[in-house]
Amino acid sequence: MTSSHPTDIAQNLAEIESRISVALKEAGRTDQALLTAVSKMQGEEKLRAALAAGIRIFGENRVQEAKAKWPALREEFPDIELRLIGPLQSNKAGEAVALFDVIESIDRPKIARALAEECKKQGKRPRLLVQINTGGEVQKAGVPPEEADDFIKFVRDETGLQIEGLMCIPPADEPPAPHFALLAKIAGRSGLFALSMGMSGDYEIAVTLGATNVRVGTALFGRRD
Ligand SMILES: *Cc1c(COP(=O)(O)O)cnc(C)c1O
Repeated sequence: MTSSHPTDIAQNLAEIESRISVALKEAGRTDQALLTAVSKMQGEEKLRAALAAGIRIFGENRVQEAKAKWPALREEFPDIELRLIGPLQSNKAGEAVALFDVIESIDRPKIARALAEECKKQGKRPRLLVQINTGGEVQKAGVPPEEADDFIKFVRDETGLQIEGLMCIPPADEPPAPHFALLAKIAGRSGLFALSMGMSGDYEIAVTLGATNVRVGTALFGRRD
């Protein structure tokens, strides 16, 4: 059930969390899958409703939008964790490092280098994930699966950045499970633990396949404005 009324966010949250815990149990998992509330294109009223419901982990897909929405709220709620889940241009690397606690969309040497430089300059260490284009879609960001191992090794060896895990967005018109399984397999090969996968329509499947973070927007907030 989704609704666009702010007072329903707490109810939607309870439903999503209960489904996540069922999926964890079904998969025999004793660890956690955290919820990232994808707040892109949602206004302040809904952000406040989510904060009031206890949510602290938020995902945004554009640096400029996040910069306009979050700094003031973060002064009120210092324990907010902001995650960049959208494509990153290297000329925005500085702003991204300044604003985000987690950056999930590293997919090119140029971005990795720019982030490494900004981390050093700003003395910050955001947690980092590499985005994998599991479906090999031409229009989608992410490292092609066949280049993933080499890219992860490149980032580790050449930039000094520490990668915590992988992120994917499966093709909209395919069953997501094989993509989630592929992401888990690539992560396992490189000894990475974090798997950001699963959205409103498929987060339970993602949890059964090992997601440590699901990114849920519409099922929590209702339709985007
Ligand atoms: C928008 C978005 C989501 C959330 O999508 P919903 O279907 O609304 O849950 C998750 N991940 C990324 C990368 C997104 O851009």
